[in-house]
Amino acid sequence: MNDNRPICAIATPSGRGGIGIVRASGKGIASLMEAICGRALRAREASYLPFLDADGDAIDQGIAIWFPAPNSYTGEDVLELQGHGGPVVMQMLLARVLAAGAPLGMRLAAPGEFTERAYLNDKLDLAQAEAVADLIDASTEQAARSAQRSMSGEFSQRVHGLRDRLIDLRMLVEATLDFPEEEIDFLERADAEGKLRAVREALAATLAAARTGALLRDGLNVVLVGEPNVGKSSLLNALAGAEVAIVTPIAGTTRDRVAQAIQVEGVPINIIDTAGLRESSDEVERIGIARTWDEIGRADVVLLLGVAEAGTSSGREPADRLGPVPAPESERARETRSDPPLAAEVLEHTGSRVPVVHVWNKIDLAGMPAASRGEGAERSVWLSARTGEGIDGLRSCLLELAGWQGAGESQFIARERHLDALRRASGHLDEAAALGWREGHGLELFAEELRLAQEALGEITGEFSADELLGVIFSRFCIGK
Ligand code: GDP
Repeated sequence: MNDNRPICAIATPSGRGGIGIVRASGKGIASLMEAICGRALRAREASYLPFLDADGDAIDQGIAIWFPAPNSYTGEDVLELQGHGGPVVMQMLLARVLAAGAPLGMRLAAPGEFTERAYLNDKLDLAQAEAVADLIDASTEQAARSAQRSMSGEFSQRVHGLRDRLIDLRMLVEATLDFPEEEIDFLERADAEGKLRAVREALAATLAAARTGALLRDGLNVVLVGEPNVGKSSLLNALAGAEVAIVTPIAGTTRDRVAQAIQVEGVPINIIDTAGLRESSDEVERIGIARTWDEIGRADVVLLLGVAEAGTSSGREPADRLGPVPAPESERARETRSDPPLAAEVLEHTGSRVPVVHVWNKIDLAGMPAASRGEGAERSVWLSARTGEGIDGLRSCLLELAGWQGAGESQFIARERHLDALRRASGHLDEAAALGWREGHGLELFAEELRLAQEALGEITGEFSADELLGVIFSRFCIGK
């Protein structure tokens, strides 16, 4: 995407709407404005006028805004044409922008290219640019608010704060390395150790907050397994309550394959219902099933749903975790016993890394079994999807397993990429701490770990980023952003 010819795109979603926007950005596109708007526009002022075709006839009437560089979203000259939001009008307007800009090399923008230019022109850092996409994709209000905070730079400031502390510490170390003949002051050395401790603590706090932020962005993938009639649909409805999350079918994200998207305290939860996992001869259905298995492989939590039985201790952890679900001894359970043991298959797919919660439903019929209050009941939840009793317990169990820290006001959105960089930075600081401040060769290693930690932090905001990484990040955007 290192082609800096002017770009244009329809910035509003396809389909019909009250308003549709065509946006163009590039160096020296003033000629475009004069050709289409018929005159020079005043900077950053809305002008109501006809948008002209090559013959001077009006294509549409609307608002044009001219943002001369550098005071624009991309940092280049930007022309925004707000017309009527019909697909044909928008296509005509786009074609006109392409034609009028042809002498300048005008071309269609790639996904996220406007934001990429904003990044390249220092309008945003990388974490902020990613937050733009995360705001657009946010599936809960909490996620949107956090993305907004990241976009306005709260996360970047925290990362810069960490970086500045590291630089401070590095200066002390580098000075000692550069002037080995100077006596190292005992106080200076103690100062360095104190500084390292403080920066490690601050990094740990940022990592914890970022983990929560990543959860807000990616949500928690929960797989729901259970025999027919144990109450899977009822449980889904009870969990969802009134707060059904916005399901956005975005190609390439997991969301388009998810059966149900709900939210708990603003955390998006994608529930994959395994009810449809039956053998099928239908090709389309088989593809759907294969995708569901992929999802299951990426699950964060497995819920094994069964029916609570009066007077029994249903809910004991099975001795063998990969064994079949401890199905209650009832007529129904015996009837379905011959089914392939779906639970075992699911557990095999998720592996031992994924926590499994045994959910015992219909306690309104059976009452709470004694075992629910006994030891070893942590991973079991008893509830009634019908009366709602115990649903809150399941909600908090899910949040706890997700490592949710609660949505503090300083919450920001984060991505796996950021977590990875923070973890690596933290690893280097652990190394540095293990090495300690030792004279001679040891101090060089110490200095090197600090440098690597700083570099890892720099990846987050894009100070150290490979071109291919930029390509990956911006290609996930929508066109026109
Ligand atoms: P699924 O096949 O696993 O999706 O099960 P459903 O959610 O369709 O529920 C099967 C039956 O059990 C329905 O008649 C529900 O009304 C009933 N049911 C579900 N949850 C409860 C519950 O907590 N208590 C009682 N008494 N009935 C329930």
